Amino acid sequence: MTTSSPDQLDEFRAGVREWCRTHIPAQWRRAQTDVSDAEFVRFQQDWFQELRAAGFAVPHWPKQWGGGMSLAEQVVLYQELAAHDAPRLVLAFVSIHHAASTLLAAGTEEQRQRHLPAILNGEIWCQGFSEPGAGSDMAALQTTARRAGDGYVVNGQKLWASGAMHADWCLLLARTDPNAPKRHGISYFLLDMRTPGVDVRPIRQATGESHFCEIFLEDVTIPATRLVGPEHAGWRVAQQTLGAERGMTMLELAERLGNGGFRWLVRLCARPGPGGTRPLDDPLIGDRLATLEIELTGLRALCAELVANDHPGPADASIVKLYYSELLQRMTDFGTEVAGLAAHTELHKPRSSGWESGAWMLDFIGSWEWTIPGGTSEIQRTIIGERGLGLPREPTGH
Ligand SMILES: Cc1cc2nc3c(=O)[nH]c(=O)nc-3n(C[C@H](O)[C@H](O)[C@H](O)COP(=O)(O)OP(=O)(O)OC[C@H]3O[C@@H](n4cnc5c(N)ncnc54)[C@H](O)[C@@H]3O)c2cc1C
Repeated sequence: MTTSSPDQLDEFRAGVREWCRTHIPAQWRRAQTDVSDAEFVRFQQDWFQELRAAGFAVPHWPKQWGGGMSLAEQVVLYQELAAHDAPRLVLAFVSIHHAASTLLAAGTEEQRQRHLPAILNGEIWCQGFSEPGAGSDMAALQTTARRAGDGYVVNGQKLWASGAMHADWCLLLARTDPNAPKRHGISYFLLDMRTPGVDVRPIRQATGESHFCEIFLEDVTIPATRLVGPEHAGWRVAQQTLGAERGMTMLELAERLGNGGFRWLVRLCARPGPGGTRPLDDPLIGDRLATLEIELTGLRALCAELVANDHPGPADASIVKLYYSELLQRMTDFGTEVAGLAAHTELHKPRSSGWESGAWMLDFIGSWEWTIPGGTSEIQRTIIGERGLGLPREPTGH
């Protein structure tokens, strides 16, 4: 719920708009295309600090830690950033959402004091949950953490860790009790990525980018003070991290798709082809464009309901995630079709643009990623069926 009155919100919107006009780097797409890792990190860090100086970097954090915006203000902020085509905070995503919400909910005061200000100063985090054989079935994870003196010795392998090649710290799940039932023997750690024995290997993706990595852990020592929550209770803490993937992050993505992605699509359809006709002159194209706009309106309505609801239903976040990711695929599929051969020759896209940059083939390939993290579409459908519709539960075997 929010306390901002309509007048206050109008004033706030005008301020954000003015800020966007004067602060968003005009050439950021060019500055983020075909750049080195170091240039990408520098750009993202500078942009984070610009947003921070304006009070826009972590609006969802509590006031005492540098946030404190009302929900309605956050909605306005994301609407305006999307409308002004601002770069996304790709690099800080796990830090400001996953890490911060976990520390706030389950960290010790010492851990919060150590890390929240550091995140504001640019500390980068990744998330080491998935493993070969433990993705959807996360509780099957095999990485072990053996108690040794004042700490733990960790061995194992993590997979698909977004941004791990740039990360200073990792949210790590490891098995501390191999004899307990799967979910009861897992602990949650804060891992310093510079600890000896941590080996990060980026994975090359279909788009040519490397967005995520494998992390190999060999006799890595983690002090016991970096345990989050009680030993063996990491599963419960991990639910907090996973919950942070939903909510406002979806709202931001939905606004960007509706405001940015759809604008690229309209522009594409309105551009005259070699014979002078525009794709939009074809009524079938116009019809499909209109359908997508209606679907986007539906997505925004779902998001608005999700974030405004103090007590969301058990499947609400899954409905939004499923709808967003599949709509993103339909939009980029349509863009690829309309752009035709030109889409196949566009081989570069800005790195922090998200999945709706207007480089249609790359956006389309990239859109498939989104149906996987945070629970695949199949898993979301199971959640919606079981928790939303009350259908019989899938046998889990644990
Ligand atoms: C872009 C991206 C970023 C990611 N970032 C991170 C990250 O930062 N940190 C991290 O830890 N992980 C990350 N992941 C990993 C992600 O969480 C896993 O890929 C995901 O949980 C799926 O697990 P899996 O790949 O092992 O597939 P599997 O679980 O092996 O699934 C394979 C297929 O089987 C289906 N399936 C599996 N079980 C069921 C079932 N019970 N019912 C019906 N169908 C089922 C799945 O839906 C899928 O289609 C990322 C993944 C992507 C694509």
